Amino acid sequence: MMTEILAAAGAAVFITAVTRAKNALTWPAALMADAMLIFITCMSGLQEAMALIGMYLAVFVVDMIFGKKMEHATKEIQGKGGIRGIKQVLANGAAGCFCIFLYRITGESAFLIAYYASIFEVMADSIASDVGVLSKRPPRDICTWKVVSRGISGGVSVLGLLASGLVCVAGGLAAGAILHSSLKDIMIIILAPYLGMLTDSVIGSLIQVKYTCCVCGIQTERTEHCGKKTMISGGCKKISNSMVNTICTVVAAIAGCLFAIV
Ligand SMILES: [Zn+2]
Repeated sequence: MMTEILAAAGAAVFITAVTRAKNALTWPAALMADAMLIFITCMSGLQEAMALIGMYLAVFVVDMIFGKKMEHATKEIQGKGGIRGIKQVLANGAAGCFCIFLYRITGESAFLIAYYASIFEVMADSIASDVGVLSKRPPRDICTWKVVSRGISGGVSVLGLLASGLVCVAGGLAAGAILHSSLKDIMIIILAPYLGMLTDSVIGSLIQVKYTCCVCGIQTERTEHCGKKTMISGGCKKISNSMVNTICTVVAAIAGCLFAIV
């Protein structure tokens, strides 16, 4: 166990160095991610911690490749900046950590499946938006199927849906190989994260706050546009992006757990 914790600590130092050098995480966020990694190793082992690292690497690499184009395409629409804070790290990882904790105290494999479902949901969601934003066709709202601005919550594209489906399949197969899972469990690790990611778009469409610019009329998630304050045009102001992300990791985890039990 001690060797595994030392290996995880080594990986944590490496990840901190990379994410700080690329300015992808703030210092508190990087340290929180390290703490989660060590926690997961202590609770379950290096295997699950490595799956988390693998997932973050996939997101990081896709972000590095497509992030620049995405920034240009969505800067006007999204309120969030490129650097991720501690809230976002918690929103992405807290549900997974809780599943691993439950797995440790109960020994129930459904919680292990829930863990994988939850972390792969983060990957699917991130890759869907990074790749989807490159779609030539404009995104459509997942609930109304009306054309919406690029990068706005609730907007989906066929390209994004396909890309995130592919990473769910890749993640499910990889996890299945590591865990020597049954076909049913592999299907769950593929479908539960996808369900969580779709939930993200549905919540984004229905209740996440959106604003309209009084000057140019664009729909945005920013509180200011064209140098003027924007007007709320839909959704609930209290629901932030981190909250939606948290809810979706929980949805994926619960779906994974339930499918595994029945
Ligand atoms: Zn404007």
